[in-house]
Amino acid sequence: MKKIKTDFLIVGSGLYGCVLAERIANVLKKKVIILEKRNHIGGNCYSEVDKVTGIEYHKYGTHIFHTSIKPVWNYLKNFTYLNNYRHQVLSRYKNKIYQMPINLETINTFFNKNLDPFMAKNFISKQTKKYLKVEKNNFDIKARSQIGDKLYNAFIKNYTFKQWGKHPKDLPSFIFNRLPLRFDYREDYYKNSLVEGIPSEGYTKIFERLIDNKNIKIQFNSNFEFENNHNVKYLTIYTGPLDKLLKNKFGKLEWRSLKFKKEIINQEDFQGTSVINHPELKYKFTRIHEPKHLHPERTYGKKTLIIKEFSNSNSDEPYYPINNNKNKILYNKYKNYLKSKDKKFIFGGRLGDYAYYDMDMTISAALKKFENIKKNFN
Ligand code: FAD
Repeated sequence: MKKIKTDFLIVGSGLYGCVLAERIANVLKKKVIILEKRNHIGGNCYSEVDKVTGIEYHKYGTHIFHTSIKPVWNYLKNFTYLNNYRHQVLSRYKNKIYQMPINLETINTFFNKNLDPFMAKNFISKQTKKYLKVEKNNFDIKARSQIGDKLYNAFIKNYTFKQWGKHPKDLPSFIFNRLPLRFDYREDYYKNSLVEGIPSEGYTKIFERLIDNKNIKIQFNSNFEFENNHNVKYLTIYTGPLDKLLKNKFGKLEWRSLKFKKEIINQEDFQGTSVINHPELKYKFTRIHEPKHLHPERTYGKKTLIIKEFSNSNSDEPYYPINNNKNKILYNKYKNYLKSKDKKFIFGGRLGDYAYYDMDMTISAALKKFENIKKNFN
């Protein structure tokens, strides 16, 4: 790669990299070059239009924007407005559709009952009583102790196995905290978020606007390597995985990865909603996405696009960090090594921090990082 001369070099054009690029170029008025190994901006938030159906879809998995962090929304609303989409998840079990997360409707339909919230709580606690005194030190036992064996076996156990490629007994209990149990009929997945929706013009437009500044240049198909001796005046900000950067010097960090299989269906609507979980083992995929439902404000044609999601352990396409002790120790080794190497090299974002960040957390982390950088320019 040709030697680069710039004020700031940013590696990766995902949310973390582009928010920092925008802040540095607009507020500090410094020159930024972004290197992106893919052929497009946006990182895993990238959206594009399917050529056959005209339906906009999220290439690396359905992304729903939601936040309760006010500074994040105050910032992002300068670059997009959201439609009125509200996320709901359903689950197909034995060819019947149920609400997810498990709510009063799921409980009543599954057990063929007509319980009110109080009765449902009693009903479930009778099933979980036997786990009261058992140590909840893995996902399997924690889930059983909260929702009982029957709901767990139907909706969670095999889904989790497909998603993580591990028996739930071998997964840490904290992962189950992400799956709430509700004793009311609320169906909205992000019921506590202050702001929720899909960018009306798609995610990619946000990134185009973020880097629309004469001080920002982007180079696609450009893989950054640590040994590259670029001429960077202030900082290199790296948003990729640390193990890859150092050619797995201390070993490989483990990630769960995903594969997506697109299909065009010759009917206007395939499943009536944007995502349906398929927990049964007879389906190799975990979910089916139907992205036309993400944009209720748009009119699409007579065909629809569906995307089947498969989970695997290809750490060359990193999606979800596997945050067990072994990986945490390895990550810290990389982190400490890099911190001691070069004071003008920093890292962050989902891959660089080896952390699962929702989009709002990524933006929040980038804005905080910028405030730190800015202190050196006052
Ligand atoms: P990324 O988006 O991964 O961007 C990193 C960029 O760096 C990539 O473009 C990569 O190509 C580039 N790069 C890496 N290494 C190099 C290198 N050596 N040289 C050059 N370029 C490099 N969040 C939500 O809020 N709601 C959701 O519904 C949601 N759904 C998600 C679904 C999935 C399947 C996944 C994986 C995440 C989801 N997220 C969701 C989280 C969201 O994707 C992240 O918060 C966000 O994308 C993180 O941005 P980032 O810039 O840190 O990383």
